[in-house]
Amino acid sequence: MKIGLVADNTKTFPSLPLMKISAYHKSKGDIVEFAQSGLFAHYDLVYVSKTFNLDLKTVPKIDLDYISADKFIYGGSGYALEIKNGKEICHPKLDKPFPYEIEHIYPDYSIYPELTQNKAFGFLTRGCPNRCPFCTVWQREGTQSIKVSDLSEWWNGQKNIVLLDGNLLACNSREELLKQLIESKANIDYTQGLDARFIDDDVAELICKTKVSMVHFAFDLMKNERKIIEGLRIFKEHFNKSDRYCKVYILTNFNTTFEEDIYRVKKVMELGYRPDVRIYQKNTAPQFLKDLARWANNAFIYRSCKLEDYVPRKDGKRIKDIYADVL
Ligand code: SF4
Repeated sequence: MKIGLVADNTKTFPSLPLMKISAYHKSKGDIVEFAQSGLFAHYDLVYVSKTFNLDLKTVPKIDLDYISADKFIYGGSGYALEIKNGKEICHPKLDKPFPYEIEHIYPDYSIYPELTQNKAFGFLTRGCPNRCPFCTVWQREGTQSIKVSDLSEWWNGQKNIVLLDGNLLACNSREELLKQLIESKANIDYTQGLDARFIDDDVAELICKTKVSMVHFAFDLMKNERKIIEGLRIFKEHFNKSDRYCKVYILTNFNTTFEEDIYRVKKVMELGYRPDVRIYQKNTAPQFLKDLARWANNAFIYRSCKLEDYVPRKDGKRIKDIYADVL
């Protein structure tokens, strides 16, 4: 069979589902390639993977009009999500899991030679118990963090590992999984944000024994303030790398005030982390949050001037002049 692949994020991030589909079909002797349009390009089957919802204007739209195939199969969270009243709602029935033999196959990294050079991508756990209202992980993957694979399922000696888990630390097998990451001696990028509320001395010690290339935490909701700060503090006592390697996601434009946004940004800096301000539904966000993000997400800028004195635009006006009512 001739198999075509289509994804909405091909240029920036490899599609793990497509790498698994490719591996599966190649194991059956099929020809697999990214779907081409044109007179002589015809496929028996085309898989279309969509990670993002159509409302995200920054992501290229998938145009299937020029692709010829006997059959199309659509999948991915992009088809299962819709925006309702400004919030992402997930329809899990539209985001069906793979059959076991595809889900657990070693991914075909060769379809993304540049994006996966010396890198392995995957999940050790799925699901999250936290049910954060802005997040779809628990809606799509379930409300428990459960071990779904050993590292060896999708890692084969690559120097770098990109972990995609939503909440690795909430899993009962976290210790075993962190030990697998330690043994790999690979550089680990904890991309999705570790849950600081699960950090104690033992967990922090284990994470620090892995070769951390980047660790992200999250300080999204004020209701979790005390436990998050405690976890961040404990982790920092064990982590001896600079703040270049440890960032904290800070969600704004969801349910916090500007004062709370500024407070969280300054708090994580004080604790020795770099803030990574994220703006929920960016196209509806107030300009202040965009200015705050520009200042806070650039260490060079925030180290050279205070937020109050930052001049975000060419008109020369400082933040404290533009937003006198906030600061
Ligand atoms: S902790 Fe992270 S993965 Fe879990 S629901 Fe909240 S944002 Fe989603």
